[in-house]
Amino acid sequence: MTPADLKALVRTIPDFPKKGIQFRDITTLLGNGRGFAASVEWLADEVRGAEAIAGMEARGFIFGAAVSARLGLPFLPIRKSGKLPCQVIGVDYELEYGLDRLEMDPQSVSDGQQVAIVDDLLATGGTALAATALLRKAGARVSRAAFVIGLPDLGGSKRLADEAVDVRALME
Ligand code: IMP
Repeated sequence: MTPADLKALVRTIPDFPKKGIQFRDITTLLGNGRGFAASVEWLADEVRGAEAIAGMEARGFIFGAAVSARLGLPFLPIRKSGKLPCQVIGVDYELEYGLDRLEMDPQSVSDGQQVAIVDDLLATGGTALAATALLRKAGARVSRAAFVIGLPDLGGSKRLADEAVDVRALME
């Protein structure tokens, strides 16, 4: 399947979750077995060489865990606040309206471990930057992030590059 075939499997929902937003819905891509497999294969190729994969709740779990299994690497779940049962470290970050928080188990990372980030979509980069800060706080090295969809107009790629994270996106 070509990147254009995969792009055609992403559905756009207007005015979700609020008016004026064009929501890029990857559930239609997941619903196509060959499309999902090809997307995971592409992401895995982009992060090959990493020692672990981190994915952000919730859609980052779908692609991140699949990439981890494909490469035989540990998967590190980065969760919303209050979900993990163990002792956690966290990072607060700004959303368009208000604050959010990501948390992880600091013991899931070994010092200097090379961790790649995988998520469904890169918009402003706020979520991926928070995940990068969190992983680095836990002692990881983060230099790569791979996404199914990148929205170049929103500047996420540039903001991550400024933090020395190289961004790859399967489609724009
Ligand atoms: P950012 O933090 O602005 O880069 O937004 C990216 C995060 O918001 C990712 O975790 C995405 O899952 C989610 N997100 C933002 N816009 C969309 C969309 O149109 N479709 C799916 N997820 C989105």
